[in-house]
Amino acid sequence: MNFAHHLRSLGLPALILALVGVCILPVPEFWITQLNYIGIASLAVLGLVLLTGVGGLTSFGQAAFVGIGAYTTAYLSATMEWSPWLSLLVGLGITAISALVLGWITLRMSGHYLPLATIAWGLSLYYTMGNLDALGKYDGILNLPGLSIGAWQIGQQRVYLLFTWALLLLACLGVQRLLDSRGGRAIRALRTGSSMAEAMGVNTLRYKIAIFVMAALLGCVSGWLYAHFQRAVNPAPFGLRIGIEYLFMAVMGGAGFVWGAIAGTAITTLLADQLQVLLPKLIGHSGNYEVIVFGVVLVLVLKYAPDGVWAFVDRRLPAPPRRDDTSGGWAQATALSARAKPAPQEVVLQVQDIRKEFGGLVAVNNINFTVKAGQIFGLIGPNGAGKSTTFNLITGVLAPTSGQVTYRGENITGLAARGVAQRGISRTFQHVKLIADMTVLENVALGAHLRGDKGALSAMLRLDKAEEQRLFKEAATQLTRVGMGEQLHELAGNLPMGSQRLLEIARALCNDPALLLLDEPAAGLRFKEKQALIEVLRQLRSQGMSILLVEHDMDLVMEVCDRMVVMEFGTRLIEGTPSEIQASPAVRAAYLGTEH
Ligand code: ADP
Ligand code: MG
Repeated sequence: MNFAHHLRSLGLPALILALVGVCILPVPEFWITQLNYIGIASLAVLGLVLLTGVGGLTSFGQAAFVGIGAYTTAYLSATMEWSPWLSLLVGLGITAISALVLGWITLRMSGHYLPLATIAWGLSLYYTMGNLDALGKYDGILNLPGLSIGAWQIGQQRVYLLFTWALLLLACLGVQRLLDSRGGRAIRALRTGSSMAEAMGVNTLRYKIAIFVMAALLGCVSGWLYAHFQRAVNPAPFGLRIGIEYLFMAVMGGAGFVWGAIAGTAITTLLADQLQVLLPKLIGHSGNYEVIVFGVVLVLVLKYAPDGVWAFVDRRLPAPPRRDDTSGGWAQATALSARAKPAPQEVVLQVQDIRKEFGGLVAVNNINFTVKAGQIFGLIGPNGAGKSTTFNLITGVLAPTSGQVTYRGENITGLAARGVAQRGISRTFQHVKLIADMTVLENVALGAHLRGDKGALSAMLRLDKAEEQRLFKEAATQLTRVGMGEQLHELAGNLPMGSQRLLEIARALCNDPALLLLDEPAAGLRFKEKQALIEVLRQLRSQGMSILLVEHDMDLVMEVCDRMVVMEFGTRLIEGTPSEIQASPAVRAAYLGTEH
């Protein structure tokens, strides 16, 4: 271990030591209060780091969930004289239900519905808090009790600080553990768009709703802490403007980094304080000028440091110890159970008269073919012939207008991508889709998503160790199979194109498929990379794998395919062996434009 390694492993103990130091030493009260506010706000920002930074979903409504936490405990503990601990539970319940409903309605629709809905949510909750008599209208609720454990008062100063930061550090640790797990890989896959994750068998809607609810719950705890720290609540800190500020803090700190939540909150809070004093002096009037500075800073951060401030720190530290390390012991784990494979020459895939119309355009015009076990079957044709559309009809990305797809005797026509994957059809993408900031091994382990079942809670409590090791072992096995056994711990984003395509094949193999669908795997490859790919495909065939290969690289197809269909303008031109196809005048015409 070098110095930098020590730095990362000492980070957390150093932070804890610093916090205890602050509490013991004669630090001015002002700073104790500031640190309390920073800790409380960081919890809400941590939620946004998970939701926005990692998951790629934007919410302007985080402050509203903070408000639910604060107002629930204010009403129950001050007005109804309940225990604050019980009020917290009720607040969490209300938050979970409202986030579930809001998430379920908006996240099923793609695009900008969530940001818009969270704006509406933030505004309506703000006016509700400000107009309900029971909640004290815009004056809010006063005289909340302080927090106590039994007879022991937590107070409003140093002990509260320790309590807040203990909760915050626990939450950071929990989120970090979650992200380094089966569920975490699925969450990190959300940002690349749903299609890849769904093809790996990830229920993207469920994961999106889950992180939305988790973020809201973190906001609720933050609000509860805020209310009992202030001993009073009013609507102002829970409005839309603060919701935007939380987002600013998350972006500022480094939206993808757990510790960036604290860094972003601290920098923003301290900067706001300085600016509120400095700017009116400079300008000569009083006013909220810091908002303008924040706007400018945000634009600059997004332009020059889109990964936020923490990315700079993170880059200088060594990679954190991850569980995909060999020292984790996955090499000795028991292998995952495998599905029964078809016998040689058994029909694996039968495509009957499938047709797809886009408006008036017939993209796929009643195509028929059959793929047998241990066969490499080619689907070729010039650009726009309908190859990708056919591919999408089989993999469940599109539903056919008519026709039938049968896989191992089962009619799978119109099944969604996740269901197709579940049955043992795996795919790669014409445009490589991987998670650049995950290691090769983690990326490939995502392909084994359906072969595990451990969830978020198991991950946070580290009860998923045995399963994780089995998943990593499978990923390593498949990477070795495609000749990438030496690159397990590299970041996927740093790989050359040839290796990225092989990575996608290994990821598809992790699902233990009986049929592999490859969409233009040779696109963008150099000669040597293409040779390596051909080698891998031949070796897979010799092990009994059935492969449907969509390609427009004629040489590659001719070299590896047993049979192929040539398509043109959506229709089948000819089917046959490579030598039959090569001899066909019709194919020459389609490819070379010569008359026949
Ligand atoms: P290939 O993969 O062989 O290059 P595609 O299957 O991508 O061809 O496209 C076949 C035809 O269908 C093209 O004319 C294309 O413009 C059209 N097409 C593909 N997808 C869509 C879509 N979602 N909406 C409308 N037209 C489409
Ligand atoms: Mg295509």
